Amino acid sequence: MRQVAVLGATGSIGSSALDVIARHPQRLRASVLAAGRNVEALLALCRTHRPAHAAVADEACLPALREGLRAAGLPTQAHAGAAALEALVASDACDTVVAAIVGAAGLPSTLAAARAGKRLLLANKESLVLAGELLMAAVREGGATIIPVDSEHNAIFQCLPDAHARAGLQRIVLTASGGPFRGRCREELRGVTPAQAVAHPKWSMGPKISVDSATLMNKGLEVIEAHHLFGLPASRIEVLVHPQSLVHSLVEFVDGSTLAQLGLPDMRTALAVGLAWPERIASGVPGLQLLQHGRLDFEAPDLEAFPCLRLAYAALEAGGTAPAVLNAANEVAVSAFLQGRIAFLSIPALVEDALAALPPAPAQSLDVLREADAAARRHAEGALSRITAPA
Ligand code: NAD
Ligand code: MG
Repeated sequence: MRQVAVLGATGSIGSSALDVIARHPQRLRASVLAAGRNVEALLALCRTHRPAHAAVADEACLPALREGLRAAGLPTQAHAGAAALEALVASDACDTVVAAIVGAAGLPSTLAAARAGKRLLLANKESLVLAGELLMAAVREGGATIIPVDSEHNAIFQCLPDAHARAGLQRIVLTASGGPFRGRCREELRGVTPAQAVAHPKWSMGPKISVDSATLMNKGLEVIEAHHLFGLPASRIEVLVHPQSLVHSLVEFVDGSTLAQLGLPDMRTALAVGLAWPERIASGVPGLQLLQHGRLDFEAPDLEAFPCLRLAYAALEAGGTAPAVLNAANEVAVSAFLQGRIAFLSIPALVEDALAALPPAPAQSLDVLREADAAARRHAEGALSRITAPA
């Protein structure tokens, strides 16, 4: 029986993971559920999945969680705070961790799972962008198994499951849906609203990644993620817009062969792969009926309308602390956009400004990266009122 900790249980990925787990009560158990501060939603999940442990990030929520569990007559133990979550993840309460907290807040628990040698189903791409070398080193040293559940990287993982399969690998092609604003020019992006930005045409996701998909920063973060997961330089990772979101990514070999993974745009497939690998289990996602879809289109990304993808490539090339700065400034900018404080085009402007103001330094330690993350957040917060999208 696999004991699974679902971190970010109340979110979009968390709910997809719990859906797959509940389909396989003989082999999978949600033993730890963790969320930010939505106690009611976490309690509802505890009533359904009856985990041994439940954790909230916000310590102020602990009494409500404890009381709610008691009132529901559940034996689930309540925990709060980042340190408690790291301890739980490293403990024998779980052997598998679904890392689906959003943003850099997911790094400590993801690192703890890697160091403790767990099977790590990684959705939290921001932790790889912020501290990719350190996280991959922790995976190696801790003896962890990392299975990406970001759909593109999961597709590549399925095409390249082991070192043997990687022989003769030429390049990786990440597909991108293009988001809700695909085909618009820069001018047409000026007045777009948060509600329009989070209305993704193909995937149902949390608000932060939905905005990242609309700016193409999501694909930029994924290029950096792919670099760390598969050990390729930026020059061998390409991006292709594919509006149907059925081909989840491709790998090309030196002999001219290309492998791809296809499926409906539903994260439960990638999660089922991660939960059962190397076996396969039902995920609730039906197979692909290509005749119904009819066609697969591909186009080049528009880097003028969507400069975030270019900025992410530049940060990866610059290396050191640059990806941490990119990620932190983007988190501040996306949050301000979702609150209606800045315009859509100010998101890339803020990220570019932070990258220019905080030149990359070597990133040998977690402390250096944390400081770069904090400095970029301070800088971007200060720039919110100053930086508006260029006319
Ligand atoms: P979401 O906003 O729906 O859920 C986020 C979850 O994180 C919630 O459960 C929230 O309570 C929890 N959380 C937030 N801050 C926390 C903190 N400080 N401590 C503990 N928990 C905290 O987000 P999502 O769409 O599920 O995305 C989660 C992660 O997965 C992101 O990194 C995203 O980029 C990645 N991802 C998501 C999808 C998708 O389809 N949704 C696809 C690929 C990758
Ligand atoms: Mg993705």
